[in-house]
Amino acid sequence: MPAYVVGHKSPDTDTVCASIALADLKSKMGTECKPAVQGKVNDETKFVLDKFGVETPEQIESAAGKQIFLVDHSDRSQSLDDLDQGELMGIVDHHKLGDVTTPNPIEIWAWPVGCSCTVIKGMYDFYGVEIPKNIAGIMTCSILSDTVIFKSATCTDADKKAGQELAKVAGIDDLQSLGMEMFKVKSAIEGTPIRDLVMRDYKDFDMNGNKVGIGQLEVVDLSLLDSVKDDLAKEIKTMKGEGSYHSVFLLLTDIMKEGSQILIASDDPQVVQKAFGVEPKGEQAWLDGVMSRKKQVVPNFEKGFAS
Ligand code: MG
Ligand code: MG
Ligand code: MG
Repeated sequence: MPAYVVGHKSPDTDTVCASIALADLKSKMGTECKPAVQGKVNDETKFVLDKFGVETPEQIESAAGKQIFLVDHSDRSQSLDDLDQGELMGIVDHHKLGDVTTPNPIEIWAWPVGCSCTVIKGMYDFYGVEIPKNIAGIMTCSILSDTVIFKSATCTDADKKAGQELAKVAGIDDLQSLGMEMFKVKSAIEGTPIRDLVMRDYKDFDMNGNKVGIGQLEVVDLSLLDSVKDDLAKEIKTMKGEGSYHSVFLLLTDIMKEGSQILIASDDPQVVQKAFGVEPKGEQAWLDGVMSRKKQVVPNFEKGFAS
């Protein structure tokens, strides 16, 4: 039976494309692997897979009896619920180290860069394995997505270099326009149920014993969300009640203005003040220059919840 490479819940473009790329590399290195996703892929990811003619990975819900590689996360809350019923073989990630543990030694590639596919590009290079053109294409798109076209605080020189090199392999000559094309797809909200918008890029965290959910919508212009903002605010309150959360936050990120409006449903809205030094107005606040959940929002909230 092949091993499975799987990313986090509420799959984003990097989680999906990293699972495809790592499965390709591992299979070529002699460990037969299949990419998998937890849940439906989003429209941006569909656009990317279609553009380069790559198949959507199989959906799996259980790790039981499987060998598993994790990409783009190492937090149990973001992983397969029964991860312990499988055998964890390795982790390739670019986030803070999570809380998975193993009984056996495993392979870990974790770099503090902007995208899992930057790490996997490094792995292909390390092993001297050629990257197929279509996989180079989706890896390029992952980097554009995760680094918000190289503008996010998480973006490093390694991401820029990997992005350029992958684009060359894939035959992409205009990274900026490809990035904008992707973010326009990502910004589309018509016909999408409110809950799906909240869940589009959503993660649960344990912060000092508090259950905290943080969703993010990245758009090319915040006004695109005007018609649904009130409903989004209501929806995160509902979710907070359903999931016995301390807080559910939704970041509405304007990638051109380079900042985020945060919608707040919390037992203690002042945690936003503690985390960012910004007084919430009603149940929202503007966080200037904040675009990255991973590098800016999560670490600040960790501090806010610890104090
Ligand atoms: Mg991700
Ligand atoms: Mg990522
Ligand atoms: Mg992201």
